[in-house]
Amino acid sequence: MRDQAERSTQLMRDDARYIWHPFTQMQEYRQESPVIIERAEGIHLIDIHGRRYMDGVSSLWVNVHGHGKREIDDAIRAQIARVSHTTLLGLSNVPAIELARQLVERTPVGLEKVFYSDNGSTAVEIALKMAFQYHRHRVGPDTPKTRFIALTHAYHGDTIGSVSVGGISLFHKTFEPLLFDCTFAPAPYCYRCPLDAEYPGCGMACADALEEIVQRSRDRAAALIIEPLVQGAAGMLVAPEGYLARVRQICTRHDLLMIADEVATGFGRTGTLFACEQEGVRPDLLCLAKGITGGTLPLGATLATEAIYDGFLGAYGAFKTFFHGHTYTGNPLACAAALANLSLFDPVEVLPGLSGRIEYLARMLAPLRDDPRVGDVRQKGFMVGIELVRNKATKEPYPPADRIGHRVILAARNRGLLIRPLGDVIVLMPPLCTEKEDLSRMVTITAEAIREVTA
Ligand SMILES: *Cc1c(COP(=O)(O)O)cnc(C)c1O
Repeated sequence: MRDQAERSTQLMRDDARYIWHPFTQMQEYRQESPVIIERAEGIHLIDIHGRRYMDGVSSLWVNVHGHGKREIDDAIRAQIARVSHTTLLGLSNVPAIELARQLVERTPVGLEKVFYSDNGSTAVEIALKMAFQYHRHRVGPDTPKTRFIALTHAYHGDTIGSVSVGGISLFHKTFEPLLFDCTFAPAPYCYRCPLDAEYPGCGMACADALEEIVQRSRDRAAALIIEPLVQGAAGMLVAPEGYLARVRQICTRHDLLMIADEVATGFGRTGTLFACEQEGVRPDLLCLAKGITGGTLPLGATLATEAIYDGFLGAYGAFKTFFHGHTYTGNPLACAAALANLSLFDPVEVLPGLSGRIEYLARMLAPLRDDPRVGDVRQKGFMVGIELVRNKATKEPYPPADRIGHRVILAARNRGLLIRPLGDVIVLMPPLCTEKEDLSRMVTITAEAIREVTA
């Protein structure tokens, strides 16, 4: 027992001493007692003191079928026994090939080639570089089609290219001098409409605004990048129905490549395997990561159409090669995990079975709308954002120094639920395997935590 306590104390001390945590103000973090996870079971995380927590954000949006899912763990073990890593640079491996085929077969029609990397930011970075280089091959190095169009509030990752097409000023403003030029169109953020319009009376004025911007910049634009259906990191901004299909029409009409960043929405999150399916959208480039391995190993993939791929073909001396590749590209362990993750979607009842629980979650969330501190509740599938406001009538936000979102998640933690805020938006993103009883507990705890902090 004493050994156990000493070990815990040592771990907590070393965590504060040696680790610089991402997206974390360390001065604040070091004053709070850290949660150090030791193991997990299903939707529960268990810390070094043996305390159990529900994993309310799927370990940052990656977990799909629960922790310790036997089929995925077995697939990783079986692959370790064969080979853990070889390079994909001019060499191939079995799981990478099998997974590429599966991805092409399961993603929207028209995406025929898979380029691997190891996270969401690189999956985006690759799509941007492919789009850029594609136009240079098509038109020549003088092509003016070098710029990108993105949405305000967009989040596409933390590397410099993906930050350049990002629109979250809290994260991105500091790096502005390092970024390349990008044209931003108003996001479909209905609760705080950038055009001061009201849906549905507006007739989706934001899509019209986007089309105007595209029209003006089409000669200089290489591609448009979008998070289909939900702008996740911005606080789960759910686009109105039909918006995504409109964006596809606009891209097609103005000869613009469409990059769909499904890093967050992919793998069942929105109720279908991919969000694009819900509006019959076929992007030219598709970025995947997060849920791809069911939350076990890092892996990214960028899918491209045959036309884009063909644009890079030629004799070596024509220098049309795509000179890009990460060391762990196509890692066999990660690809084996991803194959197992995908095959868990195969039983015909899995995705349809989700829809009942999505509706149930919506029913559980409905009463939250009456809370005087809840401005908006947004949901798409198993992605939920609860926007807290100081004044419901004026939608006035809390002053950032109040740390409302942060305090709510600490209160939820005390009740056995691990969630994360995005500013003042409380995010719920349970693993897809979460049953009704636990969904209900997650919502109840979240509501209690909101009430406790905002009382
Ligand atoms: C998380 C995220 C990324 C970045 O993925 P990382 O693996 O964290 O680099 C990119 N796009 C979207 C939409 C995301 O949610």
